[in-house]
Amino acid sequence: MPVTPLPPAWTTTSRTAAGVAVPASFGGGDLKVRADVRRSARRCLKELVRLSIPFKRAGWTKGIETPVIVTGPIRGLRLTPKWGKRPALMDCVFALTFYRMAPVVLRAGVNELLYSSVYSYRNVAGTRVRSRHAYGLAIDVFEVRGPGKVQASVKKDWVKAMGRPGNCIGPVTSRKARLLRGLACALEKSRILSLLMTPDTDYAHRDHFHMAGLKATEKPHRRIRYAGRPKGRTWIPGRAVRKPTRRTLRRRRVAARRRAARRKAARRKAARHKAVRRKAARRQAARREAVRRKAARHRASRKAARRRP
Ligand SMILES: [Zn+2]
Repeated sequence: MPVTPLPPAWTTTSRTAAGVAVPASFGGGDLKVRADVRRSARRCLKELVRLSIPFKRAGWTKGIETPVIVTGPIRGLRLTPKWGKRPALMDCVFALTFYRMAPVVLRAGVNELLYSSVYSYRNVAGTRVRSRHAYGLAIDVFEVRGPGKVQASVKKDWVKAMGRPGNCIGPVTSRKARLLRGLACALEKSRILSLLMTPDTDYAHRDHFHMAGLKATEKPHRRIRYAGRPKGRTWIPGRAVRKPTRRTLRRRRVAARRRAARRKAARRKAARHKAVRRKAARRQAARREAVRRKAARHRASRKAARRRP
């Protein structure tokens, strides 16, 4: 299959043919995000000010280390709630992730992300693991917009199981599909995110991109390729995106229950073990105490014997 050449929007010139207004700070004189911001909230907030990221402080929020609300476009990249008026409440560190992401996203021909939520205190579906949304470190993007009213919906326009090593976008011809795949590929290549999940990942992501940033203590970057072909795995088109059957769900539930039971048994065993050890320790202490007392008595009686004439 012939490789379709990339439209100008995907090349890395700072002014794209698609007419994206790329901020002047792009080429060369790009402001670098300082590395030490991860260490303290104060430093991170100062960095937001220095990079002129529009934001306001948010009150204490469960799970978020340094909650902020992004109030305007970051380097020309707009964040818009798709439904309702959910504010872009996130961790300060994630706002910096957007700062780093913005040039990549703009160059891919997108200047607006329509999201359902950024912060949301919840677990990863079906697990006991906290989702990155709970830390204000992930965003679910349902639609993207480019200049000139190009709008693509992940649900409608994503073409599943495309992309190959060396041709991440894959043999996709529709403009919207190329826009989405181009964005996903560019983001993965940039390695700014800790994880990007697309409809190719699983059924839960059939209608949105999950973009997750790095936690404050994490080092960049895990490399997972869901936009192109998953590395080292046999790719069966459509397999990962099918809705799980009731049988699969039941099997998963049973497995989860079994896991929980095993964990509980292990906990109980550990508790029993601890109790036994504690009892043994107590017994040993009592024995030692008895020996000490006996010796003291012995000493006392000997002393008394010596004193007797
Ligand atoms: Zn998500």
